[in-house]
Amino acid sequence: MIIILKDHAPKDEVEKLIANIEEMGVSTHIIEGERQTIIGLVGDTSRINEHDVSAHEVVDAVKRVSEPYKMANRKFHPDNTVIPMGSTSIGGEALTMIAGPCSVESEEQIIAVAQAVKESGATMLRGGAFKPRTSPYSFQGLHDEGIQLLLKAKKATGLPIVTEIMSAAHLDLFADVDVIQVGARNMQNFELLKELGHCNKPILLKRGLSSTLEELLMSAEYIMAGGNQQVILCERGIRTFETATRNTLDLSAVPMLKKLTHLPVIIDPSHACGIAWMVEPMARGAVAVGADGLIIEVHNNPQKALCDGKQSITPAAFDQLVKELRPMASLMGRTL
Ligand code: PEP
Ligand code: MN
Repeated sequence: MIIILKDHAPKDEVEKLIANIEEMGVSTHIIEGERQTIIGLVGDTSRINEHDVSAHEVVDAVKRVSEPYKMANRKFHPDNTVIPMGSTSIGGEALTMIAGPCSVESEEQIIAVAQAVKESGATMLRGGAFKPRTSPYSFQGLHDEGIQLLLKAKKATGLPIVTEIMSAAHLDLFADVDVIQVGARNMQNFELLKELGHCNKPILLKRGLSSTLEELLMSAEYIMAGGNQQVILCERGIRTFETATRNTLDLSAVPMLKKLTHLPVIIDPSHACGIAWMVEPMARGAVAVGADGLIIEVHNNPQKALCDGKQSITPAAFDQLVKELRPMASLMGRTL
């Protein structure tokens, strides 16, 4: 971090600023130029908030030269994080294929979808039990019953399960869940992230609707700073001015995140596009840009789905999608 001082900054105030900064465990180097004085900070500046520093009366500007996230940063952890999962892993050579309905609706529905997607090559089952809906009058999910049904589907198929948490108060219900999802709307629910930092389960962290990649990584950092290093990042479309699709799939997030972090990165083409027929081409694009996996909404009767039917593909379409992805996956050195 570099602090540029105002012209004629009173010496005693500058000394106070330096003392404040050094109290936070970093050392300072003063560079006195002809026209400007600069303080260079050396050490771990992740605990220093540049906005707080810039509020100091002698400070003209503050510039960060290193990222504010340490644990998620590839610079300090060059090897990819690989998270063991069932008979496979996330972030390794195998392409992670998570499939299942937006929400768990009944035992018949979740077991039928789980069996079908497993047969086609899915490596994990998804299904929402707690649904973040825009309207309080929409179906909110089956809650604990939904989790029990997912566990039945896991027993029937052997597929590990991923489901969304909306409140830390529900954490006990997730004891047998394999991966806990934090949805886009909760990406910056910092108290929830802190709680998940103390839990010993992989967390699938979805990018917020209007969040930058740095904000996504800072949210991952919240979980990791609590001790839980098993974070999977998910790009699921962001809000733009475009209205033809539900969101805009930011495929550029994949190579950029892969550069910035060692964490696995997956793509959710279903919520990104919001349209079933677009899922397959965007999934292919995701694999082509280096995603570690996909999370795809599959429903046995999309027209009757209680949530997100428009973007849900049928088990037959999922089967076809996996077949069409295989050549692209092998081109990228991935197994599927
Ligand atoms: C979901 O996965 O069903 C979901 C609600 O996703 P998002 O948080 O990305 O909207
Ligand atoms: Mn959904």
